[in-house]
Amino acid sequence: MLAKLKEHAAAMLLSALAALFVSILSEISREVGPLVLDTLSRSVSPTALLRLLSMCLLTMMIEMSFVIYLILKLKTKLKPRFGMLWDREKNPHCPACQSLLADLGNCAIGSIRFKCLKCNQGIMLVNDKGSIIELDKAKSLLA
Ligand SMILES: [Zn+2]
Repeated sequence: MLAKLKEHAAAMLLSALAALFVSILSEISREVGPLVLDTLSRSVSPTALLRLLSMCLLTMMIEMSFVIYLILKLKTKLKPRFGMLWDREKNPHCPACQSLLADLGNCAIGSIRFKCLKCNQGIMLVNDKGSIIELDKAKSLLA
């Protein structure tokens, strides 16, 4: 749970940094851009200026691609198996709302071992053939 919270915080931080980066870049280009371009156009040839601008744009695109890659990588991906969804840490989630399931453990009613507190629905842990299996066995079968 704490690891998931850290991942979400990291993703939000990266998004905020990307927005801040774009905001600062647009502010700089608006205020300083004309002065720099005027100075550069007098001292540097137009071809060299175009190359410099192209390299800046390419660098910015690579940086933005990296930020997007990190954001997508940090998002939790849930995989369906045994009648529920599983995260990377092998925690069971509700197949309907993707919330983390409560493990009833010894308080399990019949074959219902997990309960979604959001949907208020009991969920059985069953294998591919429909038979009830233990949590440790299910976790060991998760790839
Ligand atoms: Zn649910």
